[in-house]
Amino acid sequence: MGEENINMGFPIKGYDVCPDCGCADCIGAETIRELKDKGKIPEEMFANGLSLGFPLYDPRKLQKMASQALLGSTPKVSTLKVFLAICKNCKRLYVREVDLLWQEVTVQIQTQQRPQTQGFPFKLPFSKG
Ligand SMILES: [Zn+2]
Repeated sequence: MGEENINMGFPIKGYDVCPDCGCADCIGAETIRELKDKGKIPEEMFANGLSLGFPLYDPRKLQKMASQALLGSTPKVSTLKVFLAICKNCKRLYVREVDLLWQEVTVQIQTQQRPQTQGFPFKLPFSKG
């Protein structure tokens, strides 16, 4: 809808292995692998390991974006996604990658007419992590 994705130099590459001891094994990845093997979580979840998401948007514009979404337009919000790893050897937490994702706003309708405006009103489909 005419809204360009702005990459601003992302994704930013972090460390492939532990910057302290060089160990490539990380605690989270092994646990995730085991849970996937046992069918406890779907294969597509945590495809890039552990991650934290920080939604970056102007909260004053949420209402406007919600009404745009209701009208069939697809406004997007940016989320800073930080992919993390915990070294299996020395337990150091380090960053593997930082990415900026643009995700379409999905309005969750609470009543017949009204978009939800309390708290965080949008469902963000974190498809990448
Ligand atoms: Zn380490």
